[in-house]
Amino acid sequence: MNAIPAIPVLKLNDGHSIPQLGLGVWQMSDGEAETAIKAATIAGYRLIDTAAIYGNEAGVGEGVRNSGVEREELFITTKLWNDQQARESARRALRASLERLRLKSVDLYLIHWPAPSRGLFLEAWKALIELKQEGLTRSIGVSNFNADHLERIIGETGVTPAVNQIELHPYLQQRSLRELHARLGIVTQAWSPLGQGQVLRNPTLTAMAKRLNRTSAQVILRWHQHLGVSAIPKSVRAQRIQENRDCLGFTLGSDDLVAIESLDRGGRVGPDPATFG
Ligand code: NAD
Repeated sequence: MNAIPAIPVLKLNDGHSIPQLGLGVWQMSDGEAETAIKAATIAGYRLIDTAAIYGNEAGVGEGVRNSGVEREELFITTKLWNDQQARESARRALRASLERLRLKSVDLYLIHWPAPSRGLFLEAWKALIELKQEGLTRSIGVSNFNADHLERIIGETGVTPAVNQIELHPYLQQRSLRELHARLGIVTQAWSPLGQGQVLRNPTLTAMAKRLNRTSAQVILRWHQHLGVSAIPKSVRAQRIQENRDCLGFTLGSDDLVAIESLDRGGRVGPDPATFG
């Protein structure tokens, strides 16, 4: 039997690194998150992606402690919600997340959405820079930032986010933002990598999966690895968590990659970052 390769890591612009595959825990209860983290760590995952707004940071913290994996080996991400972007609120919000997680620090703290109509994301970014200096988070980044939002925070502070976590799946391939990230030294992280399950039934992908003796989810997540991004699929089921982990045990041919590229249709499953929040 061929061993499944270890999950590769990507280098961040601050010297740390991030796994290319992790577990997303949106829409999980505390108990579900705890159970899913156990299954994920057994399967070899080390990256867990939560957020204050998910309401399950306490369960994630329990999952981390009950996983049997050393804290230093795990990579925990949480996020600042939109109504906490003012500087002092943002500083308090990470402390509150750490209390719920019962952790001393996280590995990555993200501004969840730019929420441009609030006019506060630059202030939030300055707060995150301070929180990193204070050691409450090892790395800092953003989520759902468009090019103009990135240019604003980098231009005003000189500090480039380590990560931009964006919606990215075969129906929304984000080529121009990925190219900008590559130029700026930002790691792209894909949320809803399976399009919240909607992309799984695409006939091109189901046929490809059948030919390769894989599942659609594995083909999609393998494509994310080819793009050089980090992906955080969500599942509460141990069997699917393992299935998603096993996306690394095969390769896609250049014809397969071209066929997946042709599926891009600008099809969001989530809100538009230019207006949301
Ligand atoms: P996803 O693309 O990961 O899809 C999840 C759905 O696919 C679930 O219904 C799950 O049961 C199903 N699924 C998972 N693996 C499967 C498999 N192998 N076979 C069949 N079905 C499978 O969608 P998501 O949860 O929206 O995104 C993943 C993570 O991204 C979230 O949990 C969260 O951590 C993060 N996220 C971040 C943002 C953001 O604004 N930053 C927004 C949405 C999600």
